[in-house]
Amino acid sequence: MTSRAAGLLPASAPTRLFVGGEWLTSIAELEVIDPATLRPLTTTGDAGPEEAAQAVAAAADALRTWSTAAPRVRSDVLRRTHELLLAELDEGARIITLENGKATRDARAEIATAAEFFRWFSEAAVRIEGSILTAPSGDKAIITEHRPVGVAYLITPWNFPASMVARKLAPALAAGCTAVLKPAPETPLTALWIGSILERAGLPAGVVNILATSRAAAVTEAVLADRRVRALSFTGSTEVGRLLLAQAAPRVLRCSMELGGNGPFLVLDDADVDDAVAGAVLAKTRNGGAACNAANRFYVHASLAERFAQGLREALRALRVGPGIDPSNDIGAMVSERERDKLTALLEGARDAGARVDVLGSVPDVGAFVAPAVVTGVKHGSALVRDEIFGPIAPVMTFGDDEEAIELANDTDHGLMGYVYGGDRGRAIRVGRQLESGLVAINRGLISDPAAPFGGMKQSGLGREGGTHGIHEFLEVQYLGVTW
Ligand code: NAD
Repeated sequence: MTSRAAGLLPASAPTRLFVGGEWLTSIAELEVIDPATLRPLTTTGDAGPEEAAQAVAAAADALRTWSTAAPRVRSDVLRRTHELLLAELDEGARIITLENGKATRDARAEIATAAEFFRWFSEAAVRIEGSILTAPSGDKAIITEHRPVGVAYLITPWNFPASMVARKLAPALAAGCTAVLKPAPETPLTALWIGSILERAGLPAGVVNILATSRAAAVTEAVLADRRVRALSFTGSTEVGRLLLAQAAPRVLRCSMELGGNGPFLVLDDADVDDAVAGAVLAKTRNGGAACNAANRFYVHASLAERFAQGLREALRALRVGPGIDPSNDIGAMVSERERDKLTALLEGARDAGARVDVLGSVPDVGAFVAPAVVTGVKHGSALVRDEIFGPIAPVMTFGDDEEAIELANDTDHGLMGYVYGGDRGRAIRVGRQLESGLVAINRGLISDPAAPFGGMKQSGLGREGGTHGIHEFLEVQYLGVTW
């Protein structure tokens, strides 16, 4: 019996593909698993190249009307989407928790964030600025305006099935683009549900098309082969990002890439240890640790390391791990058995290499659960330090001075997120500025904000999402030289 039959999944959660304003039935089916029970939740349509071609055609047909609609018209649809997301927050959060496994608290926060992206970009839609200046030669006016890039292909990951969709769709629509969205196969339901909200918010048919699929490569090949597609916006692993950049090269597509991270968390010798532990818990366990901007590696000044590690152990031991659907649990299931096993293997590798592994608390017998753990005595080059962990495991290492901390923090090809805790804020900011990362949190465990630019340096990505920067990922600059 699926969970819809058992009454868990909201009856209004759509499962068909959304193309050209229609909810299509497809012959192929994609099974969605509840990671807390490892039982099937439901099935959705499973798009192939044919549906991909239909989706691109629908987005291309809708482009002219949407891109020339008054900015206020676009803004109003986004605003209504914001309102509907908040009005139906309980339903959305339930869908997220059921297909992704995360705690209800995290799922609710995510819908609120997704709604805020729509509100922010409803306001940005009517504030797209251009400029006029007189050429130095005096012979013309230099007018710059912004034009929508065109049809955008958006690919999203499973870890934030609502907010990653919102962070792309809201600016794309505000800019006047139309879109084909391909959510992760683990979490297609949330994306389809957002499609139904957009529809009810008055979005014209074909402006957004959503392809749930187990055949990411085949669908992507079909979409990117169509010359009407002009932009590719991807959030996911660096590995897949590299592949997609190569695939986008022949058609010189406009690319935005939000890729993996390996965030260092520095605790300087004058930091307040209790504050740092509280920030570390947030940075490590929000979303069960499955966040690209999570703290991955903790570097603590040698004089504070034992106090910090002990404080972290106690704080993590106090967290409850269990089905996300029970609101009293702090950490839900990982998205799949594969993710759980990856985390278990990382811990085993560290233990085999002689590290001290403290597993804190217990997990249910069934489901893709992982207990939080603090690992000390880890070697700098080990997998736990080198790889993106994506779970509630915290390796804690030491450093001697600020220079060494910065060097260790930057010794990675990633550059998304860094954290610095220090008593002297000026010094903490100076250290933060030397981190090679697009986002730096100073004395905070969380800084994501729809109004702020989110994105990475180095191999963590290209471009920025959110804030005023976010809409420009979907806009071209056009210069008009005018005899004045
Ligand atoms: P993933 O790269 O495996 O998959 C991401 C998306 O790409 C999914 O929709 C997947 O179906 C699709 N995909 C996979 N192979 C593809 C192919 N050959 N062609 C086209 N599409 C393909 O990543 P994931 O496991 O879903 O998500 C976790 C990763 O996402 C982590 O590395 C995390 O850091 C990253 N992430 C980054 C950000 C950011 O803003 N920088 C935000 C969230 C997640």
